Amino acid sequence: MKPLQELTRPNIWSLAPYSSARNEYSGHEAHVFLDANENPFGNPLNRYPDPLQHELKERLSQVKGVPADSIFLGNGSDEAIDLLYRCFCQPGIDNVVAIEPTYGMYRVSADINDVEYRPVLLDERYQIQAASLLTACDQHTKLIWICSPNNPTGNNIDREEMLKVIDQFQGIVIIDEAYSDFSRQRPLRLELSLHPNLVVLNTLSKAWASAAIRLGMAFAHSDIIALFNKVKYPYNVNYLTQQQALRILSNQSDVERWVRLILEERSRMIEAFRQLPVCEQVYPTDANFFLARVTDAQAIYDYLVSQGIIVRNRTRVQLCNNCLRITIGTRTENGELLAALRQY
Ligand SMILES: *Cc1c(COP(=O)(O)O)cnc(C)c1O
Repeated sequence: MKPLQELTRPNIWSLAPYSSARNEYSGHEAHVFLDANENPFGNPLNRYPDPLQHELKERLSQVKGVPADSIFLGNGSDEAIDLLYRCFCQPGIDNVVAIEPTYGMYRVSADINDVEYRPVLLDERYQIQAASLLTACDQHTKLIWICSPNNPTGNNIDREEMLKVIDQFQGIVIIDEAYSDFSRQRPLRLELSLHPNLVVLNTLSKAWASAAIRLGMAFAHSDIIALFNKVKYPYNVNYLTQQQALRILSNQSDVERWVRLILEERSRMIEAFRQLPVCEQVYPTDANFFLARVTDAQAIYDYLVSQGIIVRNRTRVQLCNNCLRITIGTRTENGELLAALRQY
């Protein structure tokens, strides 16, 4: 890896961050807060939240097996994705490499930040070769994006190939593990300490059943986390989100039970789906959804909408011609989808 300073945009490296009222007194026990022009009435929502979410990070550190100073928390994973561009990529000059097809936000955020996006097509097994990602890079490539289990294909990316990319690339490698709770593969976040150029993304939006509260995580070396903290909005994760996240994290057994149920349903669904006349192929999955090639994705999608059932039509995505992406729902919801497709 190149030195972090060389990878970082010069304006970000030298940035003097906004210093919020609640940052400056730190270290002292305080009980009278007359520093932030808050209303003294209306406890507890009258107060600004902890800008660095200490209590929540301590809890996440235990749950995720990552040191607290290696955790960034944001307004969904989307915030971490955007911060990676803003910290490392000079608009109009730098570029990034990503697997294709994958999660759409990496490209949208590149476009917003005026950063060239270089997609590298997966092979017919939806896998990567480290060498093909690395040969797409040049001296202006700052980031490589990999998602595992990948969205929309559902499969884990080959671990050995990901490790080769991380070891051989001179810039930052992001592994998005949004779906790792559903996967049998050992998460790469547990090997963070071995890889100073690795950023792992996680979210409470999927297995943790909290898409509404918008809490995304980035795990990385504490020097990278310090950069994110400098650039983020001072109070980027609101108090209600922090409280609700603590609550869901204390219900870990609920989450484990939900994941088990979803995985059971996934097996049942895939088996039933394969028997449908519309189904041509179900691709291997390690996530809470599966990708299926059907006889006519657009027509089937439209039919399902008319029945009040929404799936994700991926037919216009590269390598996903005539594919639908189907999330595993409750047994009843999955049954409704199967029944509707039997009537098609
Ligand atoms: C759903 C998803 C996320 C979650 O994004 P949030 O902004 O945290 O809700 C992140 N990455 C991938 C690949 C996803 O599919």
